[in-house]
Amino acid sequence: MSDTPAITVNRLSKQFDNVEVLRDINLTVNKGEVVSILGSSGSGKSTLLRCMNWLEQPDRGTIHIGEERIGIDDQTQQPMSNKQLARIRERVGMVFQSFNLWPHLTVRQNVTEALLHVKKMSKEEANQIATTQLEKVGMLEKQHVYPITLSGGQKQRVAIARSLAMSPEVMLFDEPTSALDPERVGEVLAVMKQLSQEGYTMVVVTHEMEFARAVSDQVVFLEKGKLIEQAPPEEFFTNPKSERVKQFLQTVRQ
Ligand code: ADP
Ligand code: MG
Repeated sequence: MSDTPAITVNRLSKQFDNVEVLRDINLTVNKGEVVSILGSSGSGKSTLLRCMNWLEQPDRGTIHIGEERIGIDDQTQQPMSNKQLARIRERVGMVFQSFNLWPHLTVRQNVTEALLHVKKMSKEEANQIATTQLEKVGMLEKQHVYPITLSGGQKQRVAIARSLAMSPEVMLFDEPTSALDPERVGEVLAVMKQLSQEGYTMVVVTHEMEFARAVSDQVVFLEKGKLIEQAPPEEFFTNPKSERVKQFLQTVRQ
């Protein structure tokens, strides 16, 4: 049981307007691993991540979260009910570039909202979890303020706490630091590094090469919807196989 991968993507393909944006992707994310997804803009990184919690529906191929196939019910072969899908989405947390905090709720309320209304927890239980998670990301002091008063880095840390509060098995991050001022990037990466050390399973789309190199177990490179290279970070950054990755690394080092 325990060696079942956290995520298994098998021969995944997806088109938008007759253009293949994902082509025959195979990817295994083991439990406790951090997988970084690199690639230039438009290469399909967000689409791949969004397929992993069915925000996008692939045209072909399968995705399993643990042992459970997402999107199609294994037993009936029918599309999953909204209830089944919601349950799977609880197992797969997602953090976006744009934070998506609720502006009319305080920091603490942002974290407790889904615990109270989706997980139907008691106030005490929800508040206890919020305290733990806000403390983890260093945002407990700001628990009573509204998001508008926070910096981008602080907002993103609250968004991470909100996602963690649902106890996901896997965390997906789509360029979590791309919308931040440069001096705010480090505080978010530090939280993510800490999560990796705590054993969270994470898939991270990022342009932060140092982070990818230091924290990942595997680095994956997408080019025009194809997974063209996959390797442990040292190998990926020092001895890439494909010309395309060599060229990419030269560009980002300049
Ligand atoms: P990345 O995250 O690597 O920048 P995306 O996954 O966002 O790439 O996009 C891959 C390709 O799919 C791009 O050409 C993009 O324009 C296209 N695309 C993404 N989402 C949609 C959509 N909802 N409708 C049509 N085309 C889309
Ligand atoms: Mg993207």
